[in-house]
Amino acid sequence: MSKKYSRILLKLSGEQLSGKFDNGIDPELVGWIAGEVKKVVDTGRQVVIMVGGGNIVRGAQIAGHGIQRVTGDHMGMLATMINALALTDIFEANEVETRCLSNIFAEQVAEPFVFRLANKHLQKNRVVIVAGGSGRPYVTTDTAAVVLALELDCNVVLKATKVDGVYTKDPAKHDDAERLEHMSFQEAVENKHISVMDKAALGLAMEHTMPITVFDAMVEDNLLRVANGEQVGTLIA
Ligand code: UDP
Repeated sequence: MSKKYSRILLKLSGEQLSGKFDNGIDPELVGWIAGEVKKVVDTGRQVVIMVGGGNIVRGAQIAGHGIQRVTGDHMGMLATMINALALTDIFEANEVETRCLSNIFAEQVAEPFVFRLANKHLQKNRVVIVAGGSGRPYVTTDTAAVVLALELDCNVVLKATKVDGVYTKDPAKHDDAERLEHMSFQEAVENKHISVMDKAALGLAMEHTMPITVFDAMVEDNLLRVANGEQVGTLIA
């Protein structure tokens, strides 16, 4: 089996955790995701997860009517914490050893994110789920994911989406939209139709040549295949 990627960062957005519900968390679906992650961990690869909070609160959307943007972002970061706690418990219930580390001060509920501690957990083949994004407002968990991948020396950022990669146009609106297997950072940053990931996150990845694969994680074995370095989704590199 290819050992192309030994440490991966998986970015799960909040809305992917809702499953059959309009918002919130679908525990059955998260249990299924745990099984997909376990397949990767069982190959000896180390897995870091950055989880979003869009299924509960997005700062930019809730700001207004008296709620400051910074407060909205704090609420969003707390939303990621709710998801991270649910993921951690459900992963452990599915026999995936997991630790939740937080980038916001929340010592009663999670260990603080400390670089050496995260590395130690990963070396023991525990999945590390990071709560609270980057801990700072005005960015999203996409950007926080790229920063974390750089910090923890991951080989790749795997961005799970509803679609199976990056298309030339919005595939929901255009029948002639084509899926791309590869894309340059330059194209991903400059093409205004590419909205699958934040431009800030893409710019940072480009600056530090951190590859990103955009793929559909809800297809059985896709995560394992992409972690094995197989061609799945779109590789931005
Ligand atoms: N957020 C933040 N700083 C971060 C990461 C997240 O302020 O480093 C806030 C921001 O308001 C964001 C919300 O948390 O909208 C939830 O994260 P995100 O929108 O990235 O979630 P996703 O769309 O991936 O579910």
